[in-house]
Amino acid sequence: MPLPSPESCRNGLNAVLDFFFPRFCLFCQSPLPVTEPGLTCAPCLAALPVLPRPRCRCCGAPFRSPLGGERLCQACLRQPPPFDRARAVFFYEGPILEAIHRFKYQRQLLFGRFLGQTLKQAPEITEIMAAAQLLVPVPLHTRRLQWRGFNQALLLAQHFRGIPVARDLLIRVRATLPQVGLSARERLANVKGAFLVRRPELVADKNVVLVDDVFTTGATVAECSRVLRRAGAARLEVVTVARVGYA
Ligand SMILES: [Zn+2]
Ligand SMILES: [Zn+2]
Repeated sequence: MPLPSPESCRNGLNAVLDFFFPRFCLFCQSPLPVTEPGLTCAPCLAALPVLPRPRCRCCGAPFRSPLGGERLCQACLRQPPPFDRARAVFFYEGPILEAIHRFKYQRQLLFGRFLGQTLKQAPEITEIMAAAQLLVPVPLHTRRLQWRGFNQALLLAQHFRGIPVARDLLIRVRATLPQVGLSARERLANVKGAFLVRRPELVADKNVVLVDDVFTTGATVAECSRVLRRAGAARLEVVTVARVGYA
């Protein structure tokens, strides 16, 4: 009798693992084969709302038309943001909105792991992180941190191993209203003066990357960028999982 091939041995072992340690897709709950390293099935992964190109060279907002190439959007031309570049991977909608809500509001940390892993795998983010010297998560106010139990931006930043994450360097000195439901002008006023850099010497002359879950109008990250710039950051980039809208 011929010996079984290594290939069939592996298939047999995988079938056993699938049987005893079943894993399910985070989104559709269909069984995941043991050969699938991620937390979602291939169709759910393919359905994620990836931002199209071209995008604004500065804020990363995608243009509606595929023509014209990478350039600056009207908003960035009118008023250059205080950061050098902001990049997100997905639109804040569909399964990504669901994942962020489950992570942030229902404390389902597996969704946080999924978001962190997906962020880490995006080529543009990898490129930014390769030059990063310090990651700064957008902080929560102590009261909100106590209520939630964790800072989602910090958990996302911790996925980038090997780059120092500044935990309590940038702090919120003033509680702000949730930005949800405020107009762009109200959002700016709401976060004005809300942040402080505790030890500017740790930021000075560094390539700093601010990390957050969602980029909406950019008011929060712009205000954080302003104080980090004042503290002497050499380069400031913003990385978020998702962003809202077109240029
Ligand atoms: Zn699925
Ligand atoms: Zn822009």
